[in-house]
Amino acid sequence: MKKKQNTEKFEFQRILAPLLSWYRANKRRLPWRENPTPYRVWVSEIMLQQTRVEAVKEYYRRFLEALPNVEALAECEEEKLLKLWEGLGYYSRVRNMQKAAKLLVTTYGGEFPRDPRELRSLPGIGSYTAGAIASIAFGLPVAAVDGNVFRVASRLEENGSVISDPAYRRYLEESLSAAYPESGKDCADFTQSLFELGALICKPNPDCGACPLTGLCRAYQSGTQRAFPVLPEKKAKRVEDVFVFLLQTPSGFCIRRRESGVLKGMNEFPSHVSFGESPESVLAAWGITEFEEVRRKEYTHIFTHIRWNITCIWVRTDSAPFDTYGLDELAESVSLPTAFKQCLGILDRTDCAR
Ligand code: SF4
Repeated sequence: MKKKQNTEKFEFQRILAPLLSWYRANKRRLPWRENPTPYRVWVSEIMLQQTRVEAVKEYYRRFLEALPNVEALAECEEEKLLKLWEGLGYYSRVRNMQKAAKLLVTTYGGEFPRDPRELRSLPGIGSYTAGAIASIAFGLPVAAVDGNVFRVASRLEENGSVISDPAYRRYLEESLSAAYPESGKDCADFTQSLFELGALICKPNPDCGACPLTGLCRAYQSGTQRAFPVLPEKKAKRVEDVFVFLLQTPSGFCIRRRESGVLKGMNEFPSHVSFGESPESVLAAWGITEFEEVRRKEYTHIFTHIRWNITCIWVRTDSAPFDTYGLDELAESVSLPTAFKQCLGILDRTDCAR
């Protein structure tokens, strides 16, 4: 459906004063808002991509306690790093963070550059994260456009552009950046006030009665709030049938690294995308012909572009060609993506001991 488009230029500068004063009276106390150094802002922004604020708080606390600065992140062992990230998903985020940390140490003496273009040259830092670091940590007039900001801004000016259109992102980054104060704390607060309004008031189902911008908002005035933002059409997810084997040997449960596909480089219980093969034939390909099946369960795991229909099968065997770990070791020091961690639900300690 074609959405209403208001082509008259919107003056974002007019939202600055009412939004700042609303933000200062209503902002939430969040751990990353205290002492917003570039490192702390960066870690929080990367964690908050794809994850809810409440869920991020504990991860953020643990991560900063273990890795309080760029140098510690650059030097962290991979398994420890992945364990700190376990449950947040999208592991390429933390791998890129470590690559960026190494570059910051070797090229910038462990300091973050202030120039947004230099920030964007670091692995995993796009225009959104660069804008957040530049404005919140350095007090520079650089907008950070995320989903919340797209929602607020597209409603304010009734902009019917699709938010995945790079030209719309560029337009909004430029228009908002031009509305920023010259520098300082107001820049940091303006960025966060847009995030906060989108998170608390201008939600998908907006609470316009509590909004400080009703007098300026075109969508509110014409009752078209729910027509914005305009999202790209969703593509159907690819569906894969996957066997995940909880292979128990006398020395523990088998773990290996994924060599390809989604979650490449992560630990897994040995798995196999099935094209009609039987579990027995998959086990036979690994040299496992003598085994006892204890139990199985089925569940679904959704990735961004793929849906896995998983059959998890708990199998006992005398030996298998993989590394093995005891259950306590698995819980404490082996990072496992959620897609595989769910398999542990079919175990019980009494049966495991046998
Ligand atoms: S008036 Fe409503 S639609 Fe407009 S910015 Fe405020 S909450 Fe969003």
